[in-house]
Amino acid sequence: MSSDNSPKLPPDDDLRRLIHFSAGDGRIWLAGHRMLLLHLGGLANLRKELIQTIGVIQTRRVLKRAGYESGVRDAALARQVRPNANPMDQFSVGPQLHMLEGAVQVTPEMCEFDVETGSFHGIFRWDQSWEVECHLRDFGPQTDPVCWMLIGYASGYTSAFFGKQIIFRELQCAACGEDHCRIEGRPLENWSDADALMEDYQADSMLVRIEDLQADLESLRVSLAPSDDLGDLIGRSKAFEKSIALLRKAAATQVTVLLTGETGVGKERFARTLHAMSPRADKPFVAINCAALPNDLIESELFGAEKGAYTGAGTARPGRFERADGGTLFLDELGELPPAAQAKLLRVLQTGEVERLGATATRKVDVRVVAATNVDLDAAVEAGRFRRDLMYRLNVFPIAIPPLRERFEDIEPLANHMLRQFMVLHNKRVAGITDRALDAMRSYPWPGNIRELENLIERGLIIASPGQMVDVDDLFAVAPTPSASVTLSASGELKQATASDIDTLFDELQKRGLSLDALEDALIQQAVDRAGGNLSAAARSLGLTRPQLSYRLQKMSER
Ligand SMILES: [Zn+2]
Repeated sequence: MSSDNSPKLPPDDDLRRLIHFSAGDGRIWLAGHRMLLLHLGGLANLRKELIQTIGVIQTRRVLKRAGYESGVRDAALARQVRPNANPMDQFSVGPQLHMLEGAVQVTPEMCEFDVETGSFHGIFRWDQSWEVECHLRDFGPQTDPVCWMLIGYASGYTSAFFGKQIIFRELQCAACGEDHCRIEGRPLENWSDADALMEDYQADSMLVRIEDLQADLESLRVSLAPSDDLGDLIGRSKAFEKSIALLRKAAATQVTVLLTGETGVGKERFARTLHAMSPRADKPFVAINCAALPNDLIESELFGAEKGAYTGAGTARPGRFERADGGTLFLDELGELPPAAQAKLLRVLQTGEVERLGATATRKVDVRVVAATNVDLDAAVEAGRFRRDLMYRLNVFPIAIPPLRERFEDIEPLANHMLRQFMVLHNKRVAGITDRALDAMRSYPWPGNIRELENLIERGLIIASPGQMVDVDDLFAVAPTPSASVTLSASGELKQATASDIDTLFDELQKRGLSLDALEDALIQQAVDRAGGNLSAAARSLGLTRPQLSYRLQKMSER
């Protein structure tokens, strides 16, 4: 039994004599082992590039095993160099060679062991760790120890010296803000987390890696697969649940559905889900955006055309109605449909027959129509831009899809779902979204709704560092502040509202005899003026969508 509570290292002259520089043939020897003198800066760069290409965990494993192998080689020298020394001096060959090799300064704090029974317990102080020096320089302060190659060496040396698995771990590391590193070694079975400790020393076989990747892929697949028939529609807010309940009711029937909601709320997703939940699910889902096609093309797109029906119609082609036969036709931005097409659409809905442009006969189609609009159809009818009879025909079963700002509790599940999808798309992994970023998202008014959220999450994923969390700076150029209680100061600047601000504002309105309508008009006029007539910018400054602002401007002009 060798026990020493403050063991001193013996002189190392014997070890120094083992080193031979054989410059003539380009080799350096440590006893029988060929060594290499290389620049720490070069090794540091290799270490850094490893971390950046294969990640921290794989690099840690590779370096620990490399250190372990060096330790095993030095252990072979120990008894050979000091055959008659006491056990502690013999064991000290390892720490002393480690110093001689320039890896780290070792000071034993306690070390007791029994070669016969295989007991071992040692605590050593490390100063000047080369890995701490490199890691701090390249990556800054850490939360986990970074002396991977060094700890591998200590484990490999001690295990080989005693002929049994003895594993060291860092109790503290200078890379984590401590003054120095401190390591502790025990036989493997004496560590409670032995399996986890050994993991880094087990060689990565390609098969194991492939299995891991397959498991990753499977878990991604599970997380991407819809938990029920709602597909990409995700939410738990009351407003969302209400729309979904209506959607389920409509799906079971053949009723014509009108989806309403602001731009970007996901009307096409609702339409696709409605189709997928309906008895028509295995038949085609055909979508057409009425605002995206020029007026002279929309009719041939919808209803088809016979050969020669118009210039450029070289061959007969079916329209979307025919292609959707048996299934669902989704008419997006219905409010933009030109009057002639409105009349034809009404006829198809009434008769169930389409007539291609230039055709002499009609064709029977069985199509369920789902229409969507982000404009107020009632207003469009009043303004004479939309047929009243067509509106009645389509507005049988309206479903209002709430804007994102009315479903803040859905932002977190939506953002996480989108993040997982974009991780697959961009083949990049991040650890998630910080609470700070989620908070910021919940206090943002989302004029562009789900589509804007999607753009932001994609941008955040691209900007965030691999393996890290997506933070607020990755998402927003300027973090939003809660907008609920923002008001105008007397000098015309936005500031947090207080009860007394509201009082003052109200008094001012009273004093000037301003009505609410007049105030709204004034605010809108001011916003448009300040935006230099750019309606999109003016809408943003008022927290409105562009169509909402247009509607209010229209109302103003009618007053
Ligand atoms: Zn350390």
